[in-house]
Amino acid sequence: MKILIANDDGIRAPGLRALIEALKPLGTVYVAAPAREQSGTGHSITVRDPIRVREYFIEGVKHAWVIGGTPADCVKIALGRLIPEKMDLVVSGINHGSNLGSDVLYSGTVSAAAEGVIMGCPAIAFSLDSYDHNADMSACARFARRLIEDYRALDIVPGELINVNVPPMPYEQLKGVRFTKLGRRSYGNLFEERRDPRGTPYYWMGGAVEDEAQDDDSDVAAVKAGYISVTPLNLDLTDYRTLELYRQQRPLEI
Ligand code: MN
Repeated sequence: MKILIANDDGIRAPGLRALIEALKPLGTVYVAAPAREQSGTGHSITVRDPIRVREYFIEGVKHAWVIGGTPADCVKIALGRLIPEKMDLVVSGINHGSNLGSDVLYSGTVSAAAEGVIMGCPAIAFSLDSYDHNADMSACARFARRLIEDYRALDIVPGELINVNVPPMPYEQLKGVRFTKLGRRSYGNLFEERRDPRGTPYYWMGGAVEDEAQDDDSDVAAVKAGYISVTPLNLDLTDYRTLELYRQQRPLEI
């Protein structure tokens, strides 16, 4: 199996290393990761600046590159230019922090996987639901390997990616796996006001996750209950129900 690994936490992130170690035994691994942390950069790409690419050595990896760009840049340039052979799978993560509900729209981790899909390659994103500095990535890495060993069973169709979130606990304590839909996710007290040395206010985005009512089959509910959440996402954002309605009931004329 030929796998491209990317992330949004940067080339030095422990989650990337854990994922590489877990997937190396499964086949040929390439790595393309941002030089700096790019969390929250979503699916942005670099179009007005040059993209610097530097080779990087990682034991047991066929080729690794540090990319001076966004997570989507990493996957785009790796698949479109740097790697001469076709990849079977793009794997992104392991992100330091969960990507649940509307997080997926901001997430560089999910966007790196989404870029794989755009480039015609099935993709899976992994995130660990912990912001702890010394978060243990091993359970998530172990599940990633287990899932990817048999990824063809997931039957990922073109245009789709799989978003995986793992609760922060030892593998043996995980309750199981749930197939989920995106839940509700919002953050309270989002902007903290501070003052610079000249007394001018500036703002720092932070915010804590608000505890919201969730459907039982959502990703948020699954992770909260100690289950690994597996959500299939479709990059076709068309709302087909409304489209049908418009076509039937609201003919527009010029
Ligand atoms: Mn991140």
